[in-house]
Amino acid sequence: MTRLIRGGRVVTATDAFDADVLIDGETIVAVGTGLSGDEEIDASGCLVLPGLVDNHTHLSMPFGGTWSCDDYTTGTAAAAAGGTTSIVDFCIQYVGGSLKDALAEWHGRADGAAHIDYGFHCAITDARPEVVAEMEQCVADGVTSFKVFMAYKGALMVDDEQFIAVLEQTGKTGGLVMVHCENGDAVVRYQKEALEAGDTDPKFHASTRPPEVEGEATSRAIRLAEWTGRPLFVVHVTCEEAVKEIQAARDRGLPIFGETCIQYLYLTVDDLDRPGFEGAKYVCSPPLREAYNQHVLYQALRQGALQGISTDHCPFNFKEQKELGLGDFTKIPNGLPAIEHRLTLLYDRSVRGGHMDIVDVVRHGSWGPARIFGLDKKGAIAPGFDADIVVFDPEVKHTISAETHVMNVDYDPFEGWEVQGKPRFTLSRGETVYADGKIISEPGRGRFLKRSLFEPAMG
Ligand SMILES: [Zn+2]
Repeated sequence: MTRLIRGGRVVTATDAFDADVLIDGETIVAVGTGLSGDEEIDASGCLVLPGLVDNHTHLSMPFGGTWSCDDYTTGTAAAAAGGTTSIVDFCIQYVGGSLKDALAEWHGRADGAAHIDYGFHCAITDARPEVVAEMEQCVADGVTSFKVFMAYKGALMVDDEQFIAVLEQTGKTGGLVMVHCENGDAVVRYQKEALEAGDTDPKFHASTRPPEVEGEATSRAIRLAEWTGRPLFVVHVTCEEAVKEIQAARDRGLPIFGETCIQYLYLTVDDLDRPGFEGAKYVCSPPLREAYNQHVLYQALRQGALQGISTDHCPFNFKEQKELGLGDFTKIPNGLPAIEHRLTLLYDRSVRGGHMDIVDVVRHGSWGPARIFGLDKKGAIAPGFDADIVVFDPEVKHTISAETHVMNVDYDPFEGWEVQGKPRFTLSRGETVYADGKIISEPGRGRFLKRSLFEPAMG
């Protein structure tokens, strides 16, 4: 059966133009005018974009004795409602465990549960030689990116020796190393000092992880990648200190890539200082920063130092989960709910706000991440690509609220924000997943995405 998306304005990573999109089964077969299909989807007055790719999510993620509260069903439903049609989620190795067991566990969670397609990165928390050797099988199984943490000492953090081992192994097997850049030793020291001084409120989460801590780790990570001759992807870049390091590395010709996340474009460190314990809703790592960094991040996206905008979606309920950190900010689970709001906020705050063009939204939110993370059939509206498409109404006004969002979490960091623009339909491989405010697909239709290798030019 063919379906025609008629009357919209198609947006790609390079252009926007009026055209219809013809879908046959799961695939886009034509983009143009004068087309016809068995069934029509009305896109008049709408933007027609490739579904967004969110390469940074944490669904059902264990953290500090609790779990992020969106699972593969609720998290992917919220993604689809917000115009995201693929995610790459972090599978986390348990210290002492194997990558094989971690991947089996994550497959078990996602299998039969997801509304949209998904892949995994493998986070390596304990890079013993036998674990590093497993990376080859991961690549063969389509898990082509690996993450290390330079923070969360005593839990997820690796030391530089382990980090180098992971980088060197990708030189043999291929694969992209992603890195969380904060100096974990420095954070532990600053946290101890704060608690000893009686500074226990959420705002001290930010003051104990200052921008210098991120800048130093970014610089060190880049040096290690340079020594080992490997590309590197820096996740959730928040501040000028880190951007400068990435920009300088790229100026030296190094294949260093990076992303920021929507919360760093729209929220600031002042949100952590909200009255009472409200600041806990805004605790994530690296922390939210001073507002001037938002301009630095926009500039980095424009100039090419950063290539992606993801969400780092990692939701914890305010009640009972964020509250674990009452009286001790170090026990607040780290993470924000954001998977549902990326397209609307990028459109409303960044495009309408004059910081970027709608074409940039596709480039940073869909096409770029799809290329870097080896999603060969995603991120474009062109014949042969998967029919992952968002029909986005740029006029509709609404108010963001935990009362109405799809995410399974009891608060919204953007509560009360009046915004313009919302997906009308979201299609995944030609099937309508979301239409006019409702998820209409069944959980389990989403498929595991075996990803290809990304090997940027080094010369
Ligand atoms: Zn993350």
